Amino acid sequence: MNPRTIGRAAASGVGVAMFLSAASAHAFVKVCHQGITTDALDTVIWPSGAQSPALTRDQSLLEGDLTIDVAPRVTGFWQLSMLVGNQFSDGGSYDAKDIVALAEYTALPDAQSAHCLRSPSDDGTTGDTTALASCKAFILGQIDTALGPDEVPDLQTTETIRLHLVFSGDADIPFDRYAFHMGRATHAVQDAFTHMFRSPDLRQVRSVLNWVDWIGNSYDPARDGFQHILALDSCGASDVGGLARRATATQATTELLSAVGSDDGGRAGRMARASAAIDSWFGIGEICNADNHWCDAPEQSLTSVAGCAVAPGPTDNNKKDVTLMAAMMAMIAAVRRPRHARARSRKISLLRFKVRLGVPVVAFILLGGVAARAEDASRGEVKGGVIGKAGPEEQKVLESHPFGIVVNGGLSIDNAGYDVGVGVRYDLGKVVTVGLSAQYSPWLSIETSRATRGTTDVFAVGIYRFDVRDYLELRFTLSAGVSVLMYDTYAAKQGSVGPYFAVSPLGVAIRTNRWLRLIIDPAELAVAIPQTTGIPLAYREHRFSVAVQANF
Ligand SMILES: [Zn+2]
Repeated sequence: MNPRTIGRAAASGVGVAMFLSAASAHAFVKVCHQGITTDALDTVIWPSGAQSPALTRDQSLLEGDLTIDVAPRVTGFWQLSMLVGNQFSDGGSYDAKDIVALAEYTALPDAQSAHCLRSPSDDGTTGDTTALASCKAFILGQIDTALGPDEVPDLQTTETIRLHLVFSGDADIPFDRYAFHMGRATHAVQDAFTHMFRSPDLRQVRSVLNWVDWIGNSYDPARDGFQHILALDSCGASDVGGLARRATATQATTELLSAVGSDDGGRAGRMARASAAIDSWFGIGEICNADNHWCDAPEQSLTSVAGCAVAPGPTDNNKKDVTLMAAMMAMIAAVRRPRHARARSRKISLLRFKVRLGVPVVAFILLGGVAARAEDASRGEVKGGVIGKAGPEEQKVLESHPFGIVVNGGLSIDNAGYDVGVGVRYDLGKVVTVGLSAQYSPWLSIETSRATRGTTDVFAVGIYRFDVRDYLELRFTLSAGVSVLMYDTYAAKQGSVGPYFAVSPLGVAIRTNRWLRLIIDPAELAVAIPQTTGIPLAYREHRFSVAVQANF
């Protein structure tokens, strides 16, 4: 089986639509930001007319582990650094699957200027002016960092950035300082075309939109400004005004990169030109606010445009959609470690609590149901049913077939993946079974629609069986062995070997007859660590596994 084909199929569809929509909640969608920046990079001027070094092999491998899709024509380290910097404003160091953490990150009052949105303090008649000033200050601050302290910017200087890689998890990676921070500056410039009502030619600002108050509890449009509009985050041909937004954002990005890249006037000249370039897009033409219906800005009508199932409805529905998406993602995230414990909003933390509570409750009910049905069957002493009580003769027959062959498959949605495996089992008695298994375990990324070959794991298995009925077992399973990486990735090479562990605290096996068992492990935790040295590579999966075991 080709994991790429299966992975693409599994990873596309509903999951991707959900993630893309969720990610778009606070900026130009990722594909717009990346497309605009890549287009601007085609004509970029680097300081001193320098040219970027080509990507190393490791940097090329890194592309497969980033949350962004890097265009094939991006072959330089500086270009890659700028694209990563551009995305960093939206993703930070967070796991792209952790929608709750990302929602908290983008709701930080201090983070609003990085997206040219209003901060909580940008209120009333001066709100537009102060929000624009903050955004400009953010952009100039990033340029200042990009240029460094010297008169001539040193493009050899790198800065180590913590990213959460799609498959490899947290990693500290050096990027070019100038390009990374210019990338962050370009993100804000681009957001100035999605987070504002603009004049028909898009040159001037009518009003700056609001995300942080709008998702809170005390949003007042008259004071806080018009709400963030999801539809403005798109930039495609089928989106209202999409191509115009994309074209102007590309123009503004190009102008900013040229202003800073040109050498005239040294450092002061670069900063002055950058300031002028920003000002040329940040001017307020007419005063537009709640009193005059924001000058009847046509973008207002887009709040009710319906797209896919998770597209925004009217104001309240839009919020519900975001909450719903967060709920679904939180359900997936529920059993993962609470890395970002400080919830920004009470709603989000309550949601997280409910979901955390929900998973074990559902598992308990499911298992309880199985046990209850077994109980019912036994009361009537039903024999020959699916899980009837075995008579003494039948028990002897069951125990006389200790050797088994098992075929299994599983799915993980936390860190996504699937696995297929085979193994042998031997019953040491009524309660203990031992065995040996091998499995192929490709890794998938739902949010990027990527698939890798993951690992092949070979491991010993120990099973403790609670014979609830002779035809129904509850089982506790422990596995330990080795894991072999099946592909080259950033800082880890194919063939790298490390430990593998798995535990299934509660599984169910149903014996349909003396030689066949159906086994369900609804909550297996498996950790493959195919690389333990250098940058350790660990992939943890919460699996739902099904197996068939035939005994002889
Ligand atoms: Zn943004």
